This record gives sequence, C-alpha cells and structure tokens, in this order.
Amino acid sequence: MKPATKYIHAGTEPDPSTGAIMTPIYQTSTYVQEAPGKNKGYEYARSQNPTRKALEDALAAIENGKFGLAFSSGVAATDAVIKLLSPGDEVICGNDMYGGTYRLFTKVFEKFGIKFIYVDTTDPVNIQSSITAQTKLVWLETPTNPLMNITDIAAVAAFTSAKNILLAVDNTFASPYLQNPLDLGADIVMHSVTKYLGGHSDVIQGCLVMNDKELREKLYFIQKSCGAVPGPMDCFLVLRGIKTLHVRMKQHCENGKIIAHWLRNNPKVAKVYWPGFEDHPGYAVAKKQMRDFGGMISFELKNDSVEEARRVLSSTHLFALAESLGGVESLINHPASMTHASIPREERIKNGLSDSLIRLSVGIEDADDLVEDLQKAIG
Ligand SMILES: *Cc1c(COP(=O)(O)O)cnc(C)c1O
Repeated sequence: MKPATKYIHAGTEPDPSTGAIMTPIYQTSTYVQEAPGKNKGYEYARSQNPTRKALEDALAAIENGKFGLAFSSGVAATDAVIKLLSPGDEVICGNDMYGGTYRLFTKVFEKFGIKFIYVDTTDPVNIQSSITAQTKLVWLETPTNPLMNITDIAAVAAFTSAKNILLAVDNTFASPYLQNPLDLGADIVMHSVTKYLGGHSDVIQGCLVMNDKELREKLYFIQKSCGAVPGPMDCFLVLRGIKTLHVRMKQHCENGKIIAHWLRNNPKVAKVYWPGFEDHPGYAVAKKQMRDFGGMISFELKNDSVEEARRVLSSTHLFALAESLGGVESLINHPASMTHASIPREERIKNGLSDSLIRLSVGIEDADDLVEDLQKAIG
C-alpha cells in the first residue's frame, strides 16, 4: 500500500458494535469480565485500550514496522528504551540532540549506572570506534534538533546489527513521510508524536515502532509496568492527525524550501541550516535516506548578538514564539534559552549551537505571508 492510503486507512476498522467509521474514544479504565479471567482481550486500561490499539497498529503501519507502542510523551518513549538496559551498560549517542533527551540521559539514567558516550554521529566511524563490550544501544537523531546534522542510518546499522547492538532512531524531525529508519536497518524508531504525527499542537504523546517480537514484548512489559500510557482522547486526536500527514508534510517541505532559500539570499543572514542545500555536509546522505527535506530550518544572523536574535524572535507575528514544532502553524524558537536550555552552555557552544541561533518550524500557511513576516522581523 502507498503511504497516502496507509495514512488514511491504517489501524482503523469500523467499530464492530456499531459500524462507526471512526475508532471510538474508549474512555474507560476497566472492562467487565464474563467470569474471573475470561475477558475479550481487555482487562485494565493501563495494559490495553481499543483506541490506543488502533493507534498503535496505525503507527506500526506508517513506519513499515510490525509493532507500535504509544506513550504519554516522546520522552516517556525514550525512557522505556533506556529501561531495557542494566547498570554498567553503555549507550553511544549524538552530541547534538534534543535537550530533553540529553537531560533524561545525564540527569536521570546516569545515576543508575548507565553510561552515555556522546560523539559526532555524522561520521559513523566515531560511533564504531567508541564501541566496547558494554555497548548495548546506539541512539541516533537525524536530522538533529536544532542543527540539522545528518547521520547515515544504513551505514550505522551495518555494524550495530553485526555486533548485536540495538539501534534506535529518533525520527521526530523527519516524520515517517520523509524517512523510515526500520527499512534502513534500525531496530527501534522513536517519535515525539507531539510534533508532525499529531500535527496540530494539541497533544503530547510519544511512540516506539519495531519489527522484533521479543523486543516488542520487552517494551510492552515496560510500558504497562511503568505506566506512561496516553489517554484514549489523545490517541483519537493522533489517529486523526495521521490521516493528513502526507498532505501536511508536502506543504511543510514546499514552504521549507522557499523559506530556506529566501533566508540564504537575505543579506542580514549569516548561515542557514537546512539539509536540502546541495552544499550542506549531509546533503548526499539526506537525499539517499529521506524523500524530501522538511520544514525545520535554523539560522544565524550576521549581527550575531543575543540581543539582535531576541529582537527578531519577538518581532514575528505569524511565527509564534514557542517551543515545539511540526504543527500546521509556524513557530519560532530560541534553542539556547528555550528547547535546549537544559544543555550546559559550554557543551552547546562546543557542539556548534550558538546563543544567537534561531530555529523555525515552518507551518503550512501561505509561503508569501510567512516570508513577509520574516522580512519585517529581520528588517
Ligand atoms: C519534542 C522532541 C522530543 C520529546 O518529545 P515530547 O513529546 O516533548 O516528550 C524528543 N525528540 C525530539 C527530536 C523532539 O523534537
């Protein structure tokens, strides 16, 4: 089945009791049993819920995976993956990733004896040379948040699978419309569903998708034991969001391309980070593993003072100043003080994330209006 058809039909069957075409919101905590232990496959809603089940099937289908698991947030999904590990295990991950992932790794899991090794993953050799007998997981983000660095997923999978190391990819920035890590050899795909999958800035949710049954059982056990499950209303909203993923993503990509080029030609802009430029260091890999380049763009002004960045950030009208991304409306964000403030300044600067970097989540409004808004703000 082609993606557009999958996005609309995956996981959704007419409701067996009424024929309702849309999956009902099963707002229930428990299920009545016919006799002790005799039930219809649903016992208690932390473990199973029909609305969540429909969504998990849809998530699996759109990532070309066998199994999906939905969590109450993106970080809860990441948390579940790290809980597969034991004290003494090592994780190799990128040195430029979502601030909340970095915070979870350094501030929560390090004290349980799990070791995280941060490398520049854009060169897979840096990962390969960090592998030890304790390495159990490689955690990748591509494109990265916010510097839009690209890592070759298939190249990394080639050596992690040979060594029985799990490869997990945070696919939030690309969305399944642009990139499918399982097809490239990854073991687990993670999404902050909050972003492109929900698509309307009205829900917090995360998910994991995988092919291996045993891995699914382990992660399902963590999901129900630790309990970070999404409610049925949120699952319903995401099921609805997924139905228009392809239409939204096409427009995000088209607008992203227009704005990336416009910024690059603006005399007040020093540097634009967007993987669709032919001279972007990750362009060849992005072209190979992604279907298009998306609507996430970061840039720096020629006047690189924090004051000037703050002035621009406060001067847009259509681009709303807010954390998050992937909704139909455009957002503007200051990673250093907002999404990535949990990374120590010294670490940030070392990895190329300057105090004056501005990140855009280009929405699906009319591109002319978006350009005009930026033009007025940049001046
Ligand atoms: C937002 C985000 C997360 C965290 O997801 P939440 O839904 O906010 O918990 C993880 N990774 C990336 C790349 C993100 O943008």
